[in-house]
Amino acid sequence: MTDAFRIHRPQGTPKSLVFDSPHSGSIYPDDFGHSIDRMILRRSEDAHVEELFSGVTDHGATLLHALFPRSYIDPNRNEDDIDVTMLDAEWPHAINPTSKTLERGVGLIWKDMKALGPIYDRKLSVAEVSQRIVEYWRPYHAALADLIDAAHASHGCVLHIDCHSMASMGDRTTEDGAVPRPDFVVSDREGTTCAPRILKCVVNYLRNCGFTVSINDPYKGFELVRRHGRPAEGRHSLQIEVNRGLYMDEETLSKKPNFVIMQKVLSGLAAVLLTEAEY
Ligand SMILES: [Zn+2]
Repeated sequence: MTDAFRIHRPQGTPKSLVFDSPHSGSIYPDDFGHSIDRMILRRSEDAHVEELFSGVTDHGATLLHALFPRSYIDPNRNEDDIDVTMLDAEWPHAINPTSKTLERGVGLIWKDMKALGPIYDRKLSVAEVSQRIVEYWRPYHAALADLIDAAHASHGCVLHIDCHSMASMGDRTTEDGAVPRPDFVVSDREGTTCAPRILKCVVNYLRNCGFTVSINDPYKGFELVRRHGRPAEGRHSLQIEVNRGLYMDEETLSKKPNFVIMQKVLSGLAAVLLTEAEY
């Protein structure tokens, strides 16, 4: 079995708050077989997001993060979100590709680095895609589901925060086009994955810290919040995108000096959610 993820647990009894960072992994498996330059490929990482949110465990939250890169297999897609034109043989299971896959080449297995070019100069085998699902995608999903279920069983409710970062500018292949992004985008799939008061608590906290925050625009939240957000059952799920320009150099992926300040802001978010969100 491969090493797909890490879990950082709080001291003492975990609170009903689970963070996950599905896209910050940077351990590139030897069998990836991409043809695009590695440094260009690395721009797809939500680099350092697990470290940015690491302080949440000080407040009793649990943090899960993927170790593998999202360009290898993307945990924020369903396992049937496959572009069969990438394969060298017929896929033996049902497929259900989304528009992200068909129109932008960023499905379960990424085809393109958006505007920067194709990732492979070859077709992928059914066996290697199946192996990525079994050894990376499913263990990550099982770990997240276990943490959320355990918190729900202990507390009768759970809040899951799915943590990401976004390029400071969109491009011609993104939903919003080539425009600057706000500091944060907070998403609940148009009010379906989280109680409105919790979303409001997050947005108010970030705005009070002096940041610009957009809600469900340009991101509405994708597979992980869709899968886990069932507010009527006391299972709340929110997606947060942090603007990478706030904390790192987007060309070199190196952290900016104010990284520590951003860590404090985000660990403070966990504290505020636990005291004020009433979920
Ligand atoms: Zn992401």
